[in-house]
Amino acid sequence: MSKPLVAKPAFMDSEDLNIFEQSVGRFLDEHAPPATVQRWAEQGSVGRELWNKAGEAGLLGVSVPEAYGGPGGDFRHEVIIMEQLAAKGAQSFVIPLHNATVCPYLLDYASEEQKQEWMPKIVSGEIVLAVAMSEPAAGSDLQGMKATAKRDGDHYVLNGQKTFISNGLHANLIVVAAKTDAAGGAKGISLFAVETDKVKGFSRGRLLHKIGQAGRDTTEIFFSDVRVPAANLLGGQEGQGFRMLMEKLPQERLVVSWQSMAMSEAALNTTVDYVKQRRAFGKTIYDLQNTQFKLAECKTKATIGKVFLYHCTELLLQKKLDPTTASMAKLWLSEAQGQIIDECLQLHGGYGYMTEYPIAEMYKDARVARIYGGTSEIMKLLIARSL
Ligand SMILES: Cc1cc2nc3c(=O)[nH]c(=O)nc-3n(C[C@H](O)[C@H](O)[C@H](O)COP(=O)(O)OP(=O)(O)OC[C@H]3O[C@@H](n4cnc5c(N)ncnc54)[C@H](O)[C@@H]3O)c2cc1C
Repeated sequence: MSKPLVAKPAFMDSEDLNIFEQSVGRFLDEHAPPATVQRWAEQGSVGRELWNKAGEAGLLGVSVPEAYGGPGGDFRHEVIIMEQLAAKGAQSFVIPLHNATVCPYLLDYASEEQKQEWMPKIVSGEIVLAVAMSEPAAGSDLQGMKATAKRDGDHYVLNGQKTFISNGLHANLIVVAAKTDAAGGAKGISLFAVETDKVKGFSRGRLLHKIGQAGRDTTEIFFSDVRVPAANLLGGQEGQGFRMLMEKLPQERLVVSWQSMAMSEAALNTTVDYVKQRRAFGKTIYDLQNTQFKLAECKTKATIGKVFLYHCTELLLQKKLDPTTASMAKLWLSEAQGQIIDECLQLHGGYGYMTEYPIAEMYKDARVARIYGGTSEIMKLLIARSL
């Protein structure tokens, strides 16, 4: 299946973007060949130095404006990175989390001085970003979080525990959600930029063992009387954290949606190649009508998803993407990804269950898309509120 599912819309088709796509592809060919991706999975992380190499190659902070040392790109460049990571089987390298999920919090809510200091390092890879909202007893229900931040002079003192933190091993600037007012509900939550190298009392737990995405470092992190300068309260005002999260979640959900889309396309491509060479009953598996019907269903699902995703992306670029539409994208694309990859694995027969086949890895990696960034059930709740 070499032809793209959908012709690129005009806003995604430019010489600048095509050149960028080629350079991302070349970087991944060089630094993320299959043997390297396998090593990431074994060690549970992509290795710290790769972030600096990606920075040198211009893959980090691509949406950071030139005034802060970035290339001044936008979400279209982030889409290209996500598509290339999936096409090359290198999704363990979570540049999208750094670039398109966490960096926007700092661009919009950090002070001018902080942006001048942090952004060039985010672009170079000297800073690796993470976001820490989830806690052992509060995931979907973020208002139930227990982490606290108490003002003490010109600092806040952070205490608590966060879990499932992606980039948890390497991140040295973490956007952390904590309660500044325990009784304040959503209005009691604030966000802090914690520079982990500069504080005492911060620690990381062991790498968490996951059923998929083995090359992504996911850890618990702990705060024990961590003193953070008051200036690191994002937005400069207490109680704004929940509002900021709600503002940024539509883009985060589009990131998960694009990752789902990109992996669905990669799954279709590898499966079409496989069934066209695998033979049974004197013909290829592709020649069997059931195979063609299944792949036709998958391609239809993926194509519909991609058209909707382009629509959402255009809205995002115009700053018009609302939370309901972003939730619909995340719900539909992540569910479709699960169905497509399951069908594709089935068409591989026993080889689909062998981890040396890309479809087996995709099957494991895909499952979490329906959970993180807000579960499918939470997406339905959000969508239902708009009815
Ligand atoms: C690999 C991985 C990486 C992650 N990375 C990060 C990260 O970098 N930073 C971060 O902060 N978090 C991260 N997370 C956490 C993720 O966002 C949460 O796991 C997710 O939001 C679900 O929360 P939970 O696990 O506590 O599940 P729970 O909230 O306990 O939900 C359990 C089940 O109950 C359902 N449920 C809950 N409430 C309702 C409701 N009101 N109505 C109907 N059903 C409901 C859920 O849909 C789910 O099926 C990551 C998680 C994973 C697995």
